[in-house]
Amino acid sequence: MKVWDLHCDTLAELRYAVRRGQPKDFARCDLMVDMDKLTRGDYLLQCFACFVNLGEEPLNPLQACLEEIDIYEQLLAQFPRLMRVRTPEDIRALPGSGRIGAMLTVEEGGVCLDDPAVLRTLYRLGVRMMTLTWNHPNGLAHPNSVPGNADDVWPCAAVTDKGVTEQGMAFLEEMERLRMIVDVSHLSDAGFWDVVRCTTRPFAASHSNARALCGHVRNLTDEMIRAMGERGCLIGLNYCASFLDANPDRHAVESRVTDMARHARYLCDLGGEDILALGSDFDGIGGRLELTGAQDMPKLADGLLQAGFTERQVEKIFYKNAMRFFEENL
Ligand SMILES: [Zn+2]
Repeated sequence: MKVWDLHCDTLAELRYAVRRGQPKDFARCDLMVDMDKLTRGDYLLQCFACFVNLGEEPLNPLQACLEEIDIYEQLLAQFPRLMRVRTPEDIRALPGSGRIGAMLTVEEGGVCLDDPAVLRTLYRLGVRMMTLTWNHPNGLAHPNSVPGNADDVWPCAAVTDKGVTEQGMAFLEEMERLRMIVDVSHLSDAGFWDVVRCTTRPFAASHSNARALCGHVRNLTDEMIRAMGERGCLIGLNYCASFLDANPDRHAVESRVTDMARHARYLCDLGGEDILALGSDFDGIGGRLELTGAQDMPKLADGLLQAGFTERQVEKIFYKNAMRFFEENL
């Protein structure tokens, strides 16, 4: 079964490894995503996020982002099997190419330094989807960040009073004009509804689950899922244990395929079966994982079939919904 994954943090891990003076060989390494694992997992496309942690990053955030874009370019140069994907034409050419698509995205709108010129330049460099925030407030918007240690605050309260800033509104307008997909994962609840109110095009939540099943604020409420269904949006199922498992002992949470299937069923029931895709969060998650990397994706396909999804529905979740969404909206 082909796979189209909306989110991984692999570029950041590769950058940290370079910074430590111990660069990794992407052909095969200890990351959750590498060429060998993408091949064994039968991937059609991986979205590679440029992730920058504003709280800990020693570099200027834009410089950190550009270093990750440079790593993406090096991967494309080193592995001809990887295919740069930026346009609907690229997407149409991908399935028959025998190659693995690689799409550039950004997780942390703060890398743009509040300057629309930087946003436009990142678009020219190939970025096709961007979250306004990660876990830190920035000049564009406020996240649903988890105060202190997430394990001690459960369930923690969503941010309902601070959303998208005036500059963030200008960014939303420019992203829609460019046809860069707005990614609402990590955004505050207030920010989510600002996006619904102030945009007209379909948007995405690249790596978020259902809050009704697991009360983490990184997940989407029923109202959000319904609104996204009505707009023709896309949601990537996240494999992070904290967003899947509702166990009140937060130190004991596990990432299980059965819980992924429960969230998948819930998201499809509420948002329609065109809404769901995959957003693994590989190389951004740890702990107890049933899916340990890209090579394990057949286990998820089996788990969804066992949970009662049809082969056709699993195909839609695995790649067809995402392929259609990006072909229509880029
Ligand atoms: Zn994330």
